[in-house]
Parts: sequence; structure tokens; C-alpha cells
Amino acid sequence: MNVLVLNCGSSSIKYQLLEMGENPEVRAKGIVERIGLKMGCLAHKNDRNQKYETETEVPNHTVGIKLVLEALTNKEHGVIESLDEIKAVGHRVAHGGEFFTQSVLITDEVIAKIKDCCDLAPLHNPAHLLGMYAMKDVLPTVPQTAVFDTSFHQSMPASSYMYPLPYSLYEQYKIRRYGFHGTSHKFVAEKACKILGWDIKDKKIITCHLGNGASITAIKYGDSVDTSMGFTPVEGVMMGTRTGDLDLGALLFIMEKEKLSISQANSFINKECGTNGFSEISSDMRDLQDEAKKGNERAILTLDMYAHRVKKYIGSYAAVMNGVDLIVMTGGIGENSDVIRKMVLTDMNYLGVEFDAVKNTDLRGTDATISKSDSKVKIMTITTDEELVIAMDTVKLVFG
Ligand code: ADP
Repeated sequence: MNVLVLNCGSSSIKYQLLEMGENPEVRAKGIVERIGLKMGCLAHKNDRNQKYETETEVPNHTVGIKLVLEALTNKEHGVIESLDEIKAVGHRVAHGGEFFTQSVLITDEVIAKIKDCCDLAPLHNPAHLLGMYAMKDVLPTVPQTAVFDTSFHQSMPASSYMYPLPYSLYEQYKIRRYGFHGTSHKFVAEKACKILGWDIKDKKIITCHLGNGASITAIKYGDSVDTSMGFTPVEGVMMGTRTGDLDLGALLFIMEKEKLSISQANSFINKECGTNGFSEISSDMRDLQDEAKKGNERAILTLDMYAHRVKKYIGSYAAVMNGVDLIVMTGGIGENSDVIRKMVLTDMNYLGVEFDAVKNTDLRGTDATISKSDSKVKIMTITTDEELVIAMDTVKLVFG
């Protein structure tokens, strides 16, 4: 059975068509970009490794979706003969506010609630809605689902999610920690437990999703009890271009000195800081590692800061849960950077973490244990797959 997974942004549509079953497979994937601009484009790849690219006018999301469906059914580079073969569509949705604790079938009521959350994710939720409307336009009878980045974290206790602000601001604007990357944190924790033969309901797990965006989550007995991203995805560990945790006073000082407007300050903390801004080299961890190897002092300091900040979160989440049984590393950096894994996970013996430097260097994107066999706390690298989770949730919701 084929499930189409969509991640709609304001000017782009990322898609994957997955054949679901015992061993799900990606049949095709691609991206439509520059929607609404003068000339849009589509890049598509199928499971026969054929690539197709085209430039054409894509004035809106409906035209973008039609382009995706045309690519999927095309005689040359397509993977299905007719649109009837798409049995369901799953949408990634950035923000479900306090409404959604799990994935849902899209109904008018769900749409209204996603709309209600637009204030909380002004760049993302309106774009997801455009994708849902467009899909309904083009394939009106195919069931659609919404899978939220935030829903897994709705289990956090108020002591984790509240900010020390006047309570009225929570009541009025719902300002609180929401957390993101929930799909990934849940998926890698469950996958690691499956591999280890553990019941997640008995375990305390810290999941580190380290990609361009990065967040760390404390999962106690299957529930997210704290996570590093907050009201927005800016809070938490240092990221490719986002600051992560920062003294609010420093931001106000910078805004005053540099005469930044609110939107300039927003762009500054999201796009001009993090490893890229600090190193003045790159946001890409591979570039930083290469430069550090050559002895570039700024690159070395950037890596040190990055690892230090991740380490601090691991320590604090072990404190929050009164211990930890498993630490999972995922995301582009967590899965691939043996350098960062080593920097973060060595010298944690106080927690019962015995890092295995040899196992650490021998893997690439595979699911593996990188702690010593007698380590009280297990460490694993697990490949995340957010599209697969969206497709699995969609199958569960639509077909039971
Ligand atoms: P996104 O948040 O955009 O999905 P990813 O999860 O793909 O990001 O992670 C991107 C990051 O992973 C980049 O910083 C990249 O440098 C890093 N990365 C990918 N491969 C490697 C590698 N082999 N070694 C170190 N870092 C890597």
C-alpha cells in the first residue's frame, strides 16, 4: 500500500512515496521549490535511481501538488500507474499547540485547531494548511493525516514546560515550552528499545537529535518529560545557525547596540548564530571538523562549545529522571560524527557511561551500540526517519 508523505513549507513541498508493509520502502522522493516565485522547479528521484528535474511555473501549492502527482505517475520516471494507488496522505505539521497529543486524521475540526496554532508557528502551520487544502482539491477522497513535531512532548509535566514569566502570559498567549522533533525522539527511543529487547515503559532514555536543528529529550518510562527546544526551536543546544540557550539580556544588549528591529533580531538568532556565526567558517559539522583537524583554533573552540552544551543537557536530564539507562545519538551529526560523539560521551563515568572509542569509529549511519559491554548505561546511534514515522502513523490511523 502506497502512502504519500508531505512536508509543505511556504515555498516548497518535500515528498516521499512509501510502500508500506512489513519492510516499508521509499518508492520515490523529491522536492518542489520556489512556489509562488517567477519560476518554480521540481527535483524527483525514484527507486530505480532515475532522476528527473524540471523548471516550470508553480504559482501555488495546488499546482505544486499536481506536479508531484504527475512525477509519481509519469511513464518514464514515475513509480505508480494511477493515483488510485495512493491510499493515504500524511502531513508533517510543525505545531499542534496544546491540542494534539498524537497524530490525527484530518477533519474540519482538526484544520480549525491547526489554524489556531498558526500564531505559534507563523512560518510553518499556514504552509501545512495550504498543502492540506491543495491535496483535498486534487485527491478529495483520499484520507489525510497530520503528524505533529510537538505532540510527543505534550506529556511533559508543567514544571518542565512552564517558563518563569507572569502566569497571565501563559493564559493569554499560551507561552510555554512545546518542544520539537518529537517524531524523531519517539522513533529512535522505540527503535533502540526494540533492538535491545527492552520495554520502553521500564527505562529512562536521553535522545540527542543533532542535525542542523538539534534538540535533546528526556524520556521516562515512554513519556517525554523534558526537552531542550522551547516555545520556539531556538532554545536548547547550539545549532547550525541558531543560538540555542542565550542570556536574554545579551540579546537585548545586541538589539540596542546594533539597532535591530524585532524581525531582524529574529532572523539574527535563527540564521546568523550557532556554529556558523560563531566559527565564521560553516554551519556544516564536516567543514568544522576538517578545519579543526588542520589546527584552526576557532573551529576547535566551536566543537568544544558544541560538545560542552550537549554534555550539559545530558547531565541535567539524568538529574531530572534520577538516572539514565540509555543515551541515543541521532540526526546527521549524532549518526555520523564520531568526533562529536566522542567529545560528548567520554568522561561520563560518574553516570555509569562507559564509552567505547573503537566501536564509535567503525560505523556510518547504522544502528549500533557504542558503549562498552559492561557499561551500566547503554549508548546507541540510531538512524532517524521522520517520513517513515509519518507513514506508519498514517497507516495506523487510516487502516487500524
Ligand atoms: P537537518 O536538521 O537539516 O535535517 P541533518 O540531520 O541532515 O540536518 O544534519 C545535518 C548535519 O549533519 C550537518 O551539520 C552535517 O555536517 C552533519 N553531518 C552529516 N554527515 C556528517 C559526517 N559524516 N560527519 C560529521 N557531520 C556530518
